[in-house]
Amino acid sequence: MSRNSNFSCILNLLLSLSLQGLALASSPNTGQDSQYQRETSYSPEQRIVVTVLLHNYAHLPSQILTEAEDRVSLIFRKAGVEVSFADCPLNDEDPALYPGCPEVVDGTQLFLRIFPTTATKMDHGGESFVAARIANIFWNRVEEQTRRLNVHAPRILAHAVAHELGHLLLGSNSHSPTGIMTAHWEAQVLVRICQDGLFFNSQQSELIRAEIRRRRCPQIPFQNALLTPQ
Ligand SMILES: [Zn+2]
Repeated sequence: MSRNSNFSCILNLLLSLSLQGLALASSPNTGQDSQYQRETSYSPEQRIVVTVLLHNYAHLPSQILTEAEDRVSLIFRKAGVEVSFADCPLNDEDPALYPGCPEVVDGTQLFLRIFPTTATKMDHGGESFVAARIANIFWNRVEEQTRRLNVHAPRILAHAVAHELGHLLLGSNSHSPTGIMTAHWEAQVLVRICQDGLFFNSQQSELIRAEIRRRRCPQIPFQNALLTPQ
């Protein structure tokens, strides 16, 4: 996103929030933010890859998907992880139409399903099933937030996707007070999404990389390997 569209995004958001009578609190702990900004680069040797098998049930246009995927990739790249997206068939589609969709062979492959609407009443835009490695995003919730706050839809979508994929690698109870794993997206969180964006902190980044490495070698259980006498 360009500097101008960033500015426009923030301006629209501030205007929308002020019209709704919401006061924006200042960041409670700017010291914590620095740990998110520090994760800027890993050497190619340090980077590891996770594949996301995308099932676009909402039939989102490629322009929105591409922009969101670029932002998700950036969020994970700052954690030292390369994300490879693969378009995959819907239930009623011929898999032969999606030659880029890999067969599932290991736990580093995650499933992302974008649905047009929620099946049940939900406050948030996504959910994750850690054991099944499935993240569901509900486009109507993303659109509602986008319309209500007049922010850029792919930006909200990307952060929702990164958050749910984060759960698939960090576990269900992995929320943090700041950063991409923030549980509740209050006004100041949305301002940050519009500005620099949200990222994994250094501890979360380490845990994610360790989890992906562990899943690459399922024959060597992580804990058992640590406990086995040498
Ligand atoms: Zn969450």
